[in-house]
Amino acid sequence: MSFARRIADAIGVRASGSPPRPPEWAPAPVESAAPRPTLEWQIATVTRIVPETARARTFTLQLPNRRPHRAGQHYDVRLTAPDGYQAQRSYSIASEPERAGEIDLTVELIPDGEVSSYMHGVLEPGDRIELRGPIGGYFVWQASQPEPLGLVAGGSGVVPLMAMLRHRAAASGRQPARLLYSSRTSDDVIYAAELARLPAAGDGAEVFQTLTRGAPEGWSGFTRRIDAEMLREVFAPLGSDVRIFVCGPTLLVESVADALVAMGVPAERIKTERFGPTGS
Ligand SMILES: Cc1cc2nc3c(=O)[nH]c(=O)nc-3n(C[C@H](O)[C@H](O)[C@H](O)COP(=O)(O)OP(=O)(O)OC[C@H]3O[C@@H](n4cnc5c(N)ncnc54)[C@H](O)[C@@H]3O)c2cc1C
Repeated sequence: MSFARRIADAIGVRASGSPPRPPEWAPAPVESAAPRPTLEWQIATVTRIVPETARARTFTLQLPNRRPHRAGQHYDVRLTAPDGYQAQRSYSIASEPERAGEIDLTVELIPDGEVSSYMHGVLEPGDRIELRGPIGGYFVWQASQPEPLGLVAGGSGVVPLMAMLRHRAAASGRQPARLLYSSRTSDDVIYAAELARLPAAGDGAEVFQTLTRGAPEGWSGFTRRIDAEMLREVFAPLGSDVRIFVCGPTLLVESVADALVAMGVPAERIKTERFGPTGS
């Protein structure tokens, strides 16, 4: 039996059929818990699953105890196997803070990944999952910040940056904003339709894309890995006051941050978040 299936059986994720066995790690009922500053684990219900690409899905989760989040923050997801083994991973919030009652997490399937393969292979609408959040006070952006906004994403690193763009739109932000997003192929572009619509809003948000493993006929974006020249072309027009957020695979984040500093962007205006160990 797969690890994902063992976990699913252990925590009784199905909402239908016989009542699920209460997991040993279930948090105390919200009513009986005294207010505390620390984040408690809670059990969310999956209300919707939307495929974004062949390898990425968005999970909409209803939380019994949802705290307001800031764009860029994440939740921790925890799975527990029957023998007590636990796997815990972080997932950025994709939805804007203005959306009430639920959050979206977008998860890319990592081959043989413990948690992502569980979420892709086992979770269905109506299932329950343990998480806590929102977490993180550094990699966050608020639409009240007036400076131009630069965003650089690789792969699923676009998730927290999408939350920033959604927040900006919901809060009627008017500061110039540019997203530079690197994907392997056009089929790997997460939120493709929404990103294609963004510039049409005419509120100063622009999207630049690069494909690193081949582009379709008529592709007008970049076709190489992000480099210093590309960063200069995209972000120089935002001026010297720009604030830049970089998120994605570790190697991409590090090379982009180094290139930005070499271009003269002050290090304190660059915030980075690393999602994973590989750059492939
Ligand atoms: C703050 C933060 C926010 C994150 N937000 C998101 C998000 O919004 N969406 C999302 O899909 N992921 C996100 N991640 C990555 C996520 O936490 C997991 O690392 C990822 O889902 C892999 O977990 P897994 O259990 O499936 O794989 P594991 O069992 O941990 O790993 C399986 C194999 O894949 C490799 N691997 C692990 N993570 C990655 C990765 N990211 N890229 C490539 N190879 C990897 C491992 O080295 C290992 O060889 C975030 C990470 C952090 C730190």
